[in-house]
Amino acid sequence: MSKNAELIAVGTEIILGDIVNTHSQFLSQKLAELGINVFYHTSVGDNPERLKGVIEQAVGRSDIVILSGGLGPTEDDLTKEMVCEVMGLETCRDQAAYDSIVAFFDKIGKTMTENNKKQAIVPVGATVFYNQNGTAPGMAVNKDGKIVVLLPGPPSELIPMFDEQVYQYLASFSDAVLVSKNLRVFGIGESMVETKLGNGLLSASNPTTALYAKEGQVLVRVTARAATKEEAEQLAEPVVRQVKDILGISVYGEDVASLEEVVVQMLRDQHKTIATAESCTGGLLASAITSIPGSSEVFEFGAVTYANRIKHAVLGVPNRVIEQHGAVSEETAVAMAKGILKESGADIGVAITGIAGPGGGSEHKPVGTVYIAVASKLGECNVVRYSLARGKEDERGAIRRLSVMNALNMVRMMLI
Ligand code: ATP
Ligand code: MG
Repeated sequence: MSKNAELIAVGTEIILGDIVNTHSQFLSQKLAELGINVFYHTSVGDNPERLKGVIEQAVGRSDIVILSGGLGPTEDDLTKEMVCEVMGLETCRDQAAYDSIVAFFDKIGKTMTENNKKQAIVPVGATVFYNQNGTAPGMAVNKDGKIVVLLPGPPSELIPMFDEQVYQYLASFSDAVLVSKNLRVFGIGESMVETKLGNGLLSASNPTTALYAKEGQVLVRVTARAATKEEAEQLAEPVVRQVKDILGISVYGEDVASLEEVVVQMLRDQHKTIATAESCTGGLLASAITSIPGSSEVFEFGAVTYANRIKHAVLGVPNRVIEQHGAVSEETAVAMAKGILKESGADIGVAITGIAGPGGGSEHKPVGTVYIAVASKLGECNVVRYSLARGKEDERGAIRRLSVMNALNMVRMMLI
């Protein structure tokens, strides 16, 4: 049987909204990896009665309780004291923890104060997690079928302590491992993805297949649970393949961070270079590409050609084309892409020209009309007219971001 866990974040700062409880996210993700279900997140201030209350409640309903914060040396740090009270635990000084606190003060060249000694006091029989990045050791108590883990509040202490020591400790209480595969989809909306995948896949329980919509993109997460990582991988694999078969080239990557990462990788693999000519996106495409480490291998030149005069002067877009068809047109986009291709000597030239709004639209070319052209040295040239207005907040920003994503996706298509 899988164990159920709950998290308690201790600290008045959290309750007041001064800090965000990032530990809840970090720990939940780690517990999911371990195959331990998390059923509750609680935050509580540094108040002895209320802290005691939530610990009592947690120990009453969960197999594993993980508390973070309140292990410091000061008066308001009460977590350990309250856990001992609720669980009826005796305490003693842990010599190794004491030595490690002394060593820490030596390392930072500061004098240890009397109250730091309190941090070496641990419940009798506790598993102690030593702290290489601070003074408070973490600890775990296993009593009457309940496991209570106490971790220091500062993320710089909690995260390495968890990864290096606590993860292993908790793994011994888990009989399951979860493996998640993230498939990133571009070019079809969430409801279409849902329809295509169908109820059979989406309602299955192991692996589960869940959809998360982000601006312009859908994340399909396949999660399998098994006794070992290898078995979970084996369970996930056919479902991942099925999703890829159904969604085809709309899936741009598995366990990748972004479209730009995929495009830069494809260009690197194919030893190709890219150059960009942007109008309404003002350099966002170049910025997305160059945000990827290693992009210098594939990107040399990006031009922001906002004014018509510059489109002509820098990219050689014929004035006649702009006069006849407008700066926002298929013809201008193509001329921009071919122009940047010529100027840069790159293998692929991309151009974006559109109306990001809020003003500047017309009946035939309303706000959100964006033309994107991708031209290659080999003579291929694709141009697409997009309507990217979604009528939501920050329309201008959204149109610009969606333009970049569509441009990257068109490049990806050309590279497939
Ligand atoms: P200290 O020895 O620093 O007093 P502590 O174990 O008593 O450590 P807290 O005093 O509760 O921990 O928190 C110390 C700092 O750690 C907070 O000021 C905050 O910056 C960070 N912190 C605590 N809890 C969380 C949390 N749940 N999420 C993110 N940061 C946190
Ligand atoms: Mg504290």
